[in-house]
Amino acid sequence: MNAFEYAAPRTLDEALAVLREHGDEARVIAGGTALVTMMRQRLVSPGYLVSLREIPGLGRIEVANGGVRIGALVTHREVETSPLVRERIPVLAETFRRVASVRIRDMATVGGALAHADPNQDPPVTLIALGSRVEIRGAGGGRELPVEDFFRDYYESALEPGEVVTGVVVPQLPAASGAAYVKFLPRTADDYATVAVAAIVTLESDGERCRAARIALGSVGVTPLRARAAEALLAGQRLGAGLLQAAGESVKGAVDPLSDHRGSAAYKREMAAVMVGRALSQAWEAARSSARGTQ
Ligand SMILES: Cc1cc2nc3c(=O)[nH]c(=O)nc-3n(C[C@H](O)[C@H](O)[C@H](O)COP(=O)(O)OP(=O)(O)OC[C@H]3O[C@@H](n4cnc5c(N)ncnc54)[C@H](O)[C@@H]3O)c2cc1C
Repeated sequence: MNAFEYAAPRTLDEALAVLREHGDEARVIAGGTALVTMMRQRLVSPGYLVSLREIPGLGRIEVANGGVRIGALVTHREVETSPLVRERIPVLAETFRRVASVRIRDMATVGGALAHADPNQDPPVTLIALGSRVEIRGAGGGRELPVEDFFRDYYESALEPGEVVTGVVVPQLPAASGAAYVKFLPRTADDYATVAVAAIVTLESDGERCRAARIALGSVGVTPLRARAAEALLAGQRLGAGLLQAAGESVKGAVDPLSDHRGSAAYKREMAAVMVGRALSQAWEAARSSARGTQ
């Protein structure tokens, strides 16, 4: 690993100033689970690391507009075990539970999972399906983006030089909604997904027909993506095997997986269709239970 200087500023403004001063030479470090590996492999060689760990307020999970705001420094394990997240958005806790091992989840942070922009990660998939927004701060001020628009290319996000992720705001599910996260990983339980799908289904007042659905997939292209064609097929429909199959078939044209040691592109395309059907059927069942509870 190359030699580097290390700064642990106590305020966000200070961190932004250090990033501005050192430009391309500087890199933010949060949990370090991805960055240190990349440095060891000499994929990146920053001369300056700016830790966010000493900045108060970035490690909080709190209620925001009925949903939940999660600070950038909150670890995966904290999301997984948070009583607030488990009560309000259980599918999010479940998604973070599926990441790697406890050792990794204890270190990796929510901001790191977004900024790293690895298309094989779990959290972005569910955050997109839930309609979450990422908070960004730079020297010029703050901005917010739908997580869906945050990923630009393979390991590339919408972050401009000198900007940091400060948190993510996750809205609460509408009434009569159900959610599911399905991670297909045939190798080992702590692996990255071969294909991952998050689905949210919201039912009409009859508790049967779909009012709206949101479906997102991971590990099927250079960024996580939304399956809009499949979503459109579901509006107004009742759950049935034919519908699930049609929704699954429709994602085959939307995904563009890479062949790797987890499977060929053709295999992943087939599995994406299967997993979309599985996630939708679980989300639909959960939505029915929710609708029964609210009727
Ligand atoms: C062995 C292993 C297995 C894993 N398996 C999975 C898995 O199955 N599923 C999964 O989803 N994840 C998995 N991960 C975790 C994931 O790949 C990333 O390592 C993790 O999410 C990065 O978070 P971090 O806080 O450690 O980021 P860091 O390593 O600290 O940083 C990663 C990148 O993000 C930047 N960065 C970090 N925080 C910010 C911020 N707030 N603002 C701006 N830029 C920032 C850094 O500069 C760096 O470029 C695994 C990791 C390892 C090491």
